[in-house]
Amino acid sequence: MASRGGEDPLERYRRMRDFARTPEPSGERPEPEDGDRRFVVQRHRATRRHYDFRLEIDGVLVSWAVPKGPTLDPGARRLAVHVEDHPIEYLHFEGVIPEGEYGGGDVIVWDMGSWEPVKPDDPATGVREGELHLDLHGEKLAGRFVLVRTEKGDSGGDKEQWMLLHKKDEHAVEGWDAEDHPRSVLTRRTNAEVKADPDRLWRSDLPAAEAAVELRAEAPEAPTLEQLEALDALGEEGDWEVFGRTVRVTNLDKELFPAREGEQPVSKRELLRYAAAIAPVVVPYLAGRALNMHRYPQGAGGKGFWHKELPDHAPDWLPRWDNPDADPGETQTYLVVDEAAALVWAANYGALEWHPWTSPTEAPDRPSYVLFDIDPGERTGWEETLELARLHRTAFDHMEVRAYPKVTGKRGIQVWVPIAPGPSFDETREWAEKVSRSIGTVLPDLISWKWQLKERNGRARLDYTQNAVNKTLVAPYSPRPAPGAPVSVPISWDELDDPDLRPDRWTIRSLPDRLEEVGDLFRPVLHHDQRLPKVR
Ligand code: MN
Repeated sequence: MASRGGEDPLERYRRMRDFARTPEPSGERPEPEDGDRRFVVQRHRATRRHYDFRLEIDGVLVSWAVPKGPTLDPGARRLAVHVEDHPIEYLHFEGVIPEGEYGGGDVIVWDMGSWEPVKPDDPATGVREGELHLDLHGEKLAGRFVLVRTEKGDSGGDKEQWMLLHKKDEHAVEGWDAEDHPRSVLTRRTNAEVKADPDRLWRSDLPAAEAAVELRAEAPEAPTLEQLEALDALGEEGDWEVFGRTVRVTNLDKELFPAREGEQPVSKRELLRYAAAIAPVVVPYLAGRALNMHRYPQGAGGKGFWHKELPDHAPDWLPRWDNPDADPGETQTYLVVDEAAALVWAANYGALEWHPWTSPTEAPDRPSYVLFDIDPGERTGWEETLELARLHRTAFDHMEVRAYPKVTGKRGIQVWVPIAPGPSFDETREWAEKVSRSIGTVLPDLISWKWQLKERNGRARLDYTQNAVNKTLVAPYSPRPAPGAPVSVPISWDELDDPDLRPDRWTIRSLPDRLEEVGDLFRPVLHHDQRLPKVR
């Protein structure tokens, strides 16, 4: 392309990177695509936060760094610093650039779509001559934009100052600010969320075609089809070979969950199949933690009780933990679901609900999460529960705290906040109480702070008291004892605005499709790098 005279458009990009670590320094120029020209805007938190505005022109991404971000406000002009072209492979890159490399920081695909040059017809000419009018068709950005050079830089065009503005048209919105729309259009995540749990790295020292390095560890082994069929082939009981273990399974055709309207009841066999299928997803939330089992040996229609002590008849291979702080008469030995087969064993033992400790066995007095439990009263409607959850969203957004909501599978919503080990339970509980009380001041009529159920007059409670050793909330993806076997399911914050959301929307039967569609939205809670900000 011709925007910089005869210079290879990627030369500058290459020069800025350290190729010392690889013998093959160059990227291939990609084939031009048929059809639409593409654009991307990446929100990039590097030394300084900025938005990278990139237009596909002649096979590369011609790029400007816009400190305040593009705007739809026709009254605003945004400084846009012309920076080096990027390879087309960078178009949909979202992830982390390692510290110490050029542009080190985190990147989200803030907007993307197609664009057309309006004036001149050949956009490379416009870039060279310092004025380009264009129409954008993105998810956030739309309408007529103008890029105009205000200050000529050196001969290479390095760091030329341009201006980016939006014309007055039907897409113009006065006062529109990019920072009010902080989520990725690819994954709906924020920069902080991507930083906490990136999917990929950009290794700018590698050729462009190889620079995006996937970080997702391979999922733990799922049960094989043969293993699942072996369960179906068993009679009322038998030995099930699964995950390399032999688990004695019993009462397989017993009805464990009453039916939902229009459905069949859920058998114990079905629960065991679910436990095996979900184990690769759920074990990371259980591993290294004592498990409090909520048992319903007679099924969800019967009475449940807490069972914490691993029974004497438990097989030797089950991972376990002896609580050194247990008093006589308290539970001494807990199950620890460090491997998938242990979850199958627990489910067969009647553990319909899985409650891992908030703290790891290696440091039981140091929580890894702060938990928020929006616990509706009998008179709290679903809309009101959602209102309370949205207030949590606003609060955590405002504090820039990473926090992850899930529906409980019953009536409520919980929020989990992962933290770096350090604070005691007294400290996390106090922090949760302060946050909850300030949220509560916004909707005081909906909330009771009374401990006793009967004193709450049917109002909701924001329960911060679960932030204590050996107090637990239900694990993500755990079934709940209710008709149809509903499941506690992570949601995105945006889903609070989805009119179809229900606290018990998903069951062990519908969860696989949900996971297929959105993946495991709770994964970032496994990153414990966060320090709690001070709250008043
Ligand atoms: Mn950048």
